[in-house]
Amino acid sequence: MSAALVPDIAAKPEQPAAANAGAIELLGLTRAEIAARLIEAGEAEKAAKMRANQLWHWIYYRGARDFSVMTTLAKDLRERLSQHFQVGRPGASKDLKSTDGTRKWLLKFADGEEAEAVHIPEEDRGALCVSSQVGCTLTCRFCHTGTMKLVRNLSPAEIVGQVMLARDCLEEWPSPKDGRMLSNIVMMGMGEPLYNFDNVSKALKIVMDNEGISISKRRITLSTAGVVPMIERCGAELDVNLAISLHAVRDDIRDVLVPLNKKYPIAELLAACAKYPGLSNARRITFEYVMLKGINDTPADARELVRLLQGIPAKVNLIPFNPWPGAPYECSSNNTINQFSEIVFNAGYSSPVRTPRGRDIMAACGQLKSASVKRSKADILREQAAKQAALEAEVQA
Ligand code: SAH
Repeated sequence: MSAALVPDIAAKPEQPAAANAGAIELLGLTRAEIAARLIEAGEAEKAAKMRANQLWHWIYYRGARDFSVMTTLAKDLRERLSQHFQVGRPGASKDLKSTDGTRKWLLKFADGEEAEAVHIPEEDRGALCVSSQVGCTLTCRFCHTGTMKLVRNLSPAEIVGQVMLARDCLEEWPSPKDGRMLSNIVMMGMGEPLYNFDNVSKALKIVMDNEGISISKRRITLSTAGVVPMIERCGAELDVNLAISLHAVRDDIRDVLVPLNKKYPIAELLAACAKYPGLSNARRITFEYVMLKGINDTPADARELVRLLQGIPAKVNLIPFNPWPGAPYECSSNNTINQFSEIVFNAGYSSPVRTPRGRDIMAACGQLKSASVKRSKADILREQAAKQAALEAEVQA
């Protein structure tokens, strides 16, 4: 089965429904790829490009999942399409709502792997926090996701599918021009987006496309722990806002908090940031800094941060540490956080303290984790053999 997603899961939240067997998933494909699939399925080459554009409109502007509603296409074509193709969504095995309005979906993909997406509403807008991987390779010490191994990368369909699912649930079809509650995207969910850049890039290009979901690059922020060699490519190819999970101002401390620092130390990271395209006072890099009691939160740390950021159009986002079971750190006190913020602010950088959102449903920064585990090839083969044996036993019974 080539389908990465399962159809119509919002309606059946517990289990991914059986996908249309053998159907090709259209979500996550470029227009040219859609056209190519249409030709493979027997459509005339001449018409394929136009058909792909029409499908794009239905899928990404109107949010249609069922070919039968695509009334600008001839009826017989709609029937043929539904035989060969599908437009899916990730499953949602949980849909939790925080007392503060934050909503978290535990996504379940066609192979049973799970990741999370979080919607954070404000008064008149809202951000969707999107995952790029199931698990993560980075093992950041303060991050819950970091206690999972990387299970796998998400496909473009699975990444763009998170936006589609949220839009379904928020009833934002057809793509509204103004007043959207899903107005911004932050690539700050599970995983390191720059370690799955090809798929993230493909998905974000779809999200930004003017004739579809149409969320502009100025409303998209990609957060990285600092995969230095990919930062330039991210700027050149996507030109979205960049956020850096800095969290420490000395390499010896950052080596522990964000082990990726051993590969790409602070100086190299900041040099790459300084070269990010299009930076200006109106367009700054966000430096995220998690406040950990007794670890990285002294006034001296704040002054060193200011020194390091010199010359980079920057803003600082102070994140009160969000606890999770077994976490080895505590959050700095409010006083300490405010003092830190003031030093950075007085040096000319905006330094808001991020209000924790969705802590009661474990949806706040760094609290995301799913039960997916990395299985070895041998495990997978054993599971398949067991399933096969159970099936045979059933047939014989
Ligand atoms: N891998 C990317 C994307 C994840 S973004 C990155 O590191 O930027 C998730 C953000 O939440 C990162 O800034 C991360 O450092 C932060 N975070 C992780 N655990 C946290 C916690 N327990 N409390 C507060 N913030 C945390």
